[in-house]
Order: sequence, then C-alpha cells, then structure tokens
Amino acid sequence: MHRQAVLFPDVVFRLAATDEKTIALTFDDGPDPITPQLLDILADETVPATFYVLGSNVNQFPDIARRIVADGHEIANHSWSHADFIGLTDEEILKNELLPTSQITFDVTGVYPKTMRPPYGNLRDETIPFLDKEGWKIIGWSVDTADWDRTRNSPEEIISRALNDRHPGAIVLMHSGYVMQNTVLALPEIIRGLKAEGYRFARVSELLGL
Ligand SMILES: [Zn+2]
Repeated sequence: MHRQAVLFPDVVFRLAATDEKTIALTFDDGPDPITPQLLDILADETVPATFYVLGSNVNQFPDIARRIVADGHEIANHSWSHADFIGLTDEEILKNELLPTSQITFDVTGVYPKTMRPPYGNLRDETIPFLDKEGWKIIGWSVDTADWDRTRNSPEEIISRALNDRHPGAIVLMHSGYVMQNTVLALPEIIRGLKAEGYRFARVSELLGL
C-alpha cells in the first residue's frame, strides 16, 4: 500500500504532517474481552484513542463496541473476518468485509465508519483508487509497537518501542484482539511517558483533520 500511496495523499495516511506534539493511539482487532481493560486505562488517563474493529467481533461483543463509542473513542473499520485483502477482489473487499462491518457498527453504536485499516496493512495498489471512489479513507501507522509479535513483545519492549519511535503527528499501532496482556501492561507507562514529554492525544480523524 505504500508505493502508490504517495499518489493518493488525501486517501492513504500513515501520520499527520505537524510539528505539534499530538499523537494518536490505535488498537486493532477488537472488540474482545481484552478491550475493557484498555478502556479502563484510557478512562483513568483521560486519553482518547481509535479502535479498528472487526465486524465479526462487533457482532459477538456489541456491548463492548458500544462502550468504545460511549467512552468518547473513535471506532473504525478493520474488516469483517481479518482476511488478507491481497487475496480478495475489490468487490469482495467492499461487499464481504467493509460494508457489513460498518453496517453492524452503525446498528450497534450509531456510528458508520468511513475510515478503514486493512488487516496486516495489506492492500493491492489498484484497490486504492477503488476505495477512494467508494469514499473510504485508508489509515496505516508510523509507529509499530510490535505488540503483535510474540517473539519481541514483552511489556518493556512495547514501552520502549513506543517511547523511542514517537514523533509529532504519529499514529501508533497496538492491538486488542490477541489473547495477551502485554499491551494492557504496557499502556499506562506509554501514556505517562508521552504525557511527560508534553504530548496530547487525538483520535485519528482529528489528528488528520478528516
Ligand atoms: Zn488486525
């Protein structure tokens, strides 16, 4: 998705071009039983975030999806099934993954997401103009905490990656959907470390001015 992304600067985003110390925390793959623990921490710290949800999980955990929105966070589209979009046609991506996820998110929360993050960040270049025509914004990341990688995702590693790689306008990739506690354990220190440096937190759509 990165080669052709430069040709679509109003469609594909990895960060915000700003000198202000504003940053967006994002959590992929929920809602799931880990998500309320993340929401508790974000509430304690009064920090807004963005959740890229799976439609299948919104279907399974509607109350948690509602709490994401009720707590003031952005809810956005991460596909229905977490399929790799490289292996799907544009029509399959739209009809089987994106539309049903935004529809169930709307039915459950009242919010119809038009921003999306493809699973694994994978998208064929040709799909970008198709999604643009359908009115979607495509959101990547500029800081990968690698909390998804079990070979290097101790809480200490997640914290140091987030705090070392942070920059003004960053979009930080983290996860909810894995059966693991390390992101939950790392999150308070990440937030406090960023606050100590003077960062303020924004939802992705605010950060990007969408
Ligand atoms: Zn994912």
